[in-house]
Amino acid sequence: MRGVTFPGDRRVEIMNFDDPTPGPGEVVIEVKASGLCGSDLHAYRAPTDDAAFRELAKGKPYETMRDNGPKIAGHEPCGVVVAVGPGVSERVARLGQRVMIHHYSGCHVCDQCRTGWPQMCEEMVPDIYGWTAHGAHAKYMKCAAHTLVTLPEGLSFEAGAAIACGSGTSYAALRKVQPNASHTVAIFGQGPVGLSGTQFAAAMGARVIALDVNKERLETARRFGAAETINPAEVDAPEAIRELTHGRGAHFSIETSGAQQAIADAIKSLRLWGTAVFVGLGRPPVVDFASDVIFRQISLQGSFTFSTNIMEECAVFSVDRGVEVEAVFSDRWSLEQAAQAYDLLDKQSSGKGVIIF
Ligand SMILES: [Zn+2]
Ligand SMILES: [Zn+2]
Repeated sequence: MRGVTFPGDRRVEIMNFDDPTPGPGEVVIEVKASGLCGSDLHAYRAPTDDAAFRELAKGKPYETMRDNGPKIAGHEPCGVVVAVGPGVSERVARLGQRVMIHHYSGCHVCDQCRTGWPQMCEEMVPDIYGWTAHGAHAKYMKCAAHTLVTLPEGLSFEAGAAIACGSGTSYAALRKVQPNASHTVAIFGQGPVGLSGTQFAAAMGARVIALDVNKERLETARRFGAAETINPAEVDAPEAIRELTHGRGAHFSIETSGAQQAIADAIKSLRLWGTAVFVGLGRPPVVDFASDVIFRQISLQGSFTFSTNIMEECAVFSVDRGVEVEAVFSDRWSLEQAAQAYDLLDKQSSGKGVIIF
């Protein structure tokens, strides 16, 4: 089969790999949809030169990405089970089952793995599919059977691919604050994670204020359910949010951009007792902890992707509330178009892409 790899320096190489066969405890899925993610750009843009790569990747989750040969990219997998290895019970995987893959595999035994958070495994550095183990940018993908999460009937494979990373991430961040119709939520950044956050928060009943410096993204946010939009390049964001909330500020903010100013604004635009949830990776801003956080009884929370259980809950929520999760994809590609797809992603001017089979 053909698989997409990143040799470095913004190149895509489609290589030949043997079709995988499942070992004990493993399954193979036929991939139907595999999302492209902004985080792929770390691997795509990495230097080809080995010493330079090691220096850059040191201590990062993808440090071992180039050990034992090139890996197939793609960590937003969705498809159908086509082979089941020895020792996998019917309750875990069945031939023909429609599934998403939670893209990490840890020790299965520690507290974090047992509660569905293998990305935080306490015993080992977990495998990350699409990074340190083969991912979904290929016709077939092998994975540990316990990483499968059922894709409900009524959700498309594309929706499953979105939930398998970006959309699942925004759902998990919102779940930490549990917004409802009495709440105003400010969502900073309307890239794929922020936009899906806008969809979910609106479906939860909350009033969403969407923020982005890109006008087109703000228009999309309106279509996705935002009640208000703010462009922080044009106005002072915390002030604008206060104007929209009777001078008080938002109950909750979700920061998805990683931009330093947005991180600061996500804190400053909260009302008293508000909570900010941080998803976007960025350098921390200068925040006056006394006046901006402590005296205002502010809670600050980090949120890193999602558990297997939250992934399933997100899928069920999307079906029950009719959330059009796959609307977050603006570009659909074939596997052979991967170079073009990543070239466009690299420019970060477009929305989100997905490879469909
Ligand atoms: Zn991703
Ligand atoms: Zn573990």
